[in-house]
Amino acid sequence: MSRVTAIRRHTLEMILEASRDSHPLEFGAILRAEEGVVSELLLVPGTIGGQSHAIFRLHNLPVDFTVVGSVHSHPSPDPRPSRQDIEFFQRIGYIHIIVAHPYDEASWRAWDRQGDAYPLTIVE
Ligand SMILES: [Zn+2]
Repeated sequence: MSRVTAIRRHTLEMILEASRDSHPLEFGAILRAEEGVVSELLLVPGTIGGQSHAIFRLHNLPVDFTVVGSVHSHPSPDPRPSRQDIEFFQRIGYIHIIVAHPYDEASWRAWDRQGDAYPLTIVE
């Protein structure tokens, strides 16, 4: 399994659109990758969008080794992970995207399990 270095533009656009649609609530999903490229969103049954933070019900996750991490939106302009986010990051995968308001191509960031920046390029 190759390490993730990129995200498909189409997938990023889906994330941005879903984040806009969910505003002012949060959007959350699981990320899947193929050949090192994040290319699919997995919507988790029972995912709760809330004013504070999206909560993922991990027991609903299928066993799936293409899962590489998560994405969620912040209704604020701050894409940095909270302490609660980092605790969640450490439970699944190794790449976590946060999309902040206004949910455009400049307002998202990718993070590793520790909450440090994770370099991710966009591919067609
Ligand atoms: Zn968060």
